[in-house]
Amino acid sequence: MATNPTFQSQLRALTRAASDLCQPDGDGAVRCVACAHRCRLMEGAQGICGMRFAENGALRVPFGYVSSLACDPIEKKPLYHFLPGSEVVSFGMLGCNLRCGFCQNWTISQAGRDETAVAFPQRIEAAEIVRQARRLAAPAIASTYNEPLISTEWSLDIFRRARAEGIRTCYVSNGFASPEALDLLEPWLDAINIDLKCFTDVGYRKLGGRLQPVLDTIRRLVERGIWVEATTLVVPGFNDSPEELADCAEFLASVSPDLPWHVSAFHADYQWHEGPSRTPVATIERAVQAGYGAGLRYVYAGNLAGDAHGSTRCPGCGAALVTRRGFQVRANEVVNGGCPLCGVAIAGVWQ
Ligand code: SF4
Repeated sequence: MATNPTFQSQLRALTRAASDLCQPDGDGAVRCVACAHRCRLMEGAQGICGMRFAENGALRVPFGYVSSLACDPIEKKPLYHFLPGSEVVSFGMLGCNLRCGFCQNWTISQAGRDETAVAFPQRIEAAEIVRQARRLAAPAIASTYNEPLISTEWSLDIFRRARAEGIRTCYVSNGFASPEALDLLEPWLDAINIDLKCFTDVGYRKLGGRLQPVLDTIRRLVERGIWVEATTLVVPGFNDSPEELADCAEFLASVSPDLPWHVSAFHADYQWHEGPSRTPVATIERAVQAGYGAGLRYVYAGNLAGDAHGSTRCPGCGAALVTRRGFQVRANEVVNGGCPLCGVAIAGVWQ
């Protein structure tokens, strides 16, 4: 963990005592149940995420700041079947419960853990984030950029206000959640993109997590009717074998063939410099075919030059219904949630 005392005291000031997602755990300890790590914290200790800590017998949790606040195309999350073409007010905080060597947002996710990850919190009121969404006429707000599960209390404060204004709510998450966090979050969440980082427990343990909680989160949120899309960053030498990509696809198809799967090309970043510095296009193509081969109806390629596999096609007649160039929607032909040519329903939230 970082030892910069100024940064740590700044972060500690931007917290509040948790009333949910914590339990007394004997001998003066508290247990944080915000994610599947379920950290047991003695007085003064901080959790694996480095952002939640025990103080005076209470669990202090991040609150009242952002590290980044921007208005993004919703396609950038990526969410392709949830209000396509919309702008989403997006906020992030600091820290993560995993430590992926290939993280592409590491300056904020590893802040507090890695001295070279330099990002700063800016104090803000939840109401101000919602006001910005209204001012920009954005139909949704997303908790994104870092891992939102480690600050669900803050997201909920924003989401409750957003819902009161008719604004939808989204998470972009690694899915390493606890059932308690999902119980708290689900009534206030409309859509989520979950990273499925690989399909082996050994792989997840290299990143500081475990596979099963992520699979449980994906299945549970689909069953609860929350709109779910999944993303796999295909990292050469880590998760790019045909077997592992097929395993990811088969699991997602078993949850729902309507669950969109985004397979994204990796570029070397942060601490991951093994093997090729970019995912070969042929590997992404293979992942896309693995998705369709497993029975998924919507598979998208991300982080590639060009727009191959970027458009939404009707699974009935093959017509291009939502045409995209990069993150921009060029045309959206979906009518009343269906294909205007053959009438097949297109899964998603369209208005
Ligand atoms: S959010 Fe997860 S990693 Fe952080 S303290 Fe809680 S259980 Fe531990």
